[in-house]
Amino acid sequence: MKYKKKKTTKKLIITIMGHVNHGKTTLIKCIIKKKYHYKEPGNITQKINTYFTKTKYGKITILDTPGHAAFKNMRKQVINITDLIVLIIAVDDGIMPQTIEIIKYAQKTKVPIIIAINKIDKINYLENIKNIKKEISQYNLIPKEWGGKNNFLEISTKKKIGINNLIKTIFLEASNNNKKSIKDTYGVIIESTTEKQGIITTLILKKGKLKIGDLILSDYHLGKIKAIFDNNNKKINIIHTFTPVKILGFSSIPSSGKIFTVIKNQKTAKKLIKQRKNIILSKKYIKENKKDIKIKFTQHHNNKLNLIIKGETFNSSKAIIQLIKSTFKKKKYKLIKLDIGNINKTDILLANTSQAIIIAFNTKTENNNVKKYADKLKVKIYYFNIIYKLIEKIKNIISILHKRKNKHQQGKAIIKNIFKSPNNSNIIAGCLITEGQIKTTDTIKIKRNNYLIFKGKLKSIKIFKKKVNYVKKGQECGINIKNFSHFKIGDIIKTHK
Ligand code: GDP
Repeated sequence: MKYKKKKTTKKLIITIMGHVNHGKTTLIKCIIKKKYHYKEPGNITQKINTYFTKTKYGKITILDTPGHAAFKNMRKQVINITDLIVLIIAVDDGIMPQTIEIIKYAQKTKVPIIIAINKIDKINYLENIKNIKKEISQYNLIPKEWGGKNNFLEISTKKKIGINNLIKTIFLEASNNNKKSIKDTYGVIIESTTEKQGIITTLILKKGKLKIGDLILSDYHLGKIKAIFDNNNKKINIIHTFTPVKILGFSSIPSSGKIFTVIKNQKTAKKLIKQRKNIILSKKYIKENKKDIKIKFTQHHNNKLNLIIKGETFNSSKAIIQLIKSTFKKKKYKLIKLDIGNINKTDILLANTSQAIIIAFNTKTENNNVKKYADKLKVKIYYFNIIYKLIEKIKNIISILHKRKNKHQQGKAIIKNIFKSPNNSNIIAGCLITEGQIKTTDTIKIKRNNYLIFKGKLKSIKIFKKKVNYVKKGQECGINIKNFSHFKIGDIIKTHK
């Protein structure tokens, strides 16, 4: 098909998605043609990055999301915002679970999708290309060359094969699928961070013009634009469409992926906020959000690791808690607070009362006083900039807690008396429990003068004549042990795991 200049959408927001290592970063580099200066810790993307470039077919804003499984939610939000998705699949690796996840979500939200089969410079992969097409066809994406409607392009980001054709197809495809747009000025929220000056929000204006002093509203979050920064953090006065910018001015944190509109004045804003709060509060998803974000007090429980998480952005905080949820069993940890921004005195106080540790992800203590306060109350703060290192640390702490718990639960008894059971069939050790508890299911060791003389299982525990399942510190009982009866007064019985 010939490219017709007039019919194309001149400005687009796209996102390139795909499994880790399939070539997403290299493709972005190819399209924006600039050298990447920014390298994230651990070399993995952990938040939404935006890039802007002019091509001969029009202007493109690229939203870049992390490819790792933990960032599923972030990817979904980005799909909501984009005009088109380029799904990149490495020819030598093929379809991965994440590939299918992206296809399904794109179809659900009706965002057009282009399949870019990458790394075709690698030996002969014709068979693989065929298989990829076949597999994807199962999801109702049929290649044009097979009579379907979908673009499957073969590219090599390394050798720059097929890149121009891909950009051309992006504009053609998007112009065929122009979404219905809202009439007035509007845009989308990408994400927010809290800085010294206040809430800084990255957003993209999709229609109209915005300037300093304008009021914008996203759900019930109101912002009066106090400052605008471009991609190079330079102050500007006006926001043009399809150019990602950062603004200072929201008084509460708007959610990523949500639309914002311009509001005439404070009075209208207040009215709308009231209405929206009422509507939104009745919706289930807000309840779920609240469950995660709201400060939750909990009684400190010995076995659980209480966590306060302070992330750099709303999205990274959400991703952290999702990864924690998928890595650890619910009974191992308790989320006390999930929030964004630097650690303040309230966080320290909360950590102290709930005996929680604080996880700082790309954040720090607000000032030296906060640090001193944490030291004084012996509140532990762990700092991270790589999500997977954070998980390793939590794993570590949970395992220490587990060992401590086991130690705490270990039982010890001293033999005070030895007697025979009423029918003379068993020798019973009359014991006093001096530490922890002993259960009938425990494995035990018997020590005499500090030497191990027996290792085995219990047969029964009785308090007077009544069989019991366990005895605790301070109780006296009769213990019968399988295959052992040569007790001596003063022997020590210890449980061990
Ligand atoms: P991402 O994890 O999806 O962002 O993948 P990258 O862009 O970082 O690429 C992962 C690896 O694949 C890197 O070693 C790239 O050099 C390599 N790679 C990317 N594109 C191509 C390609 O077209 N051909 C070949 N042979 N290697 C590629």
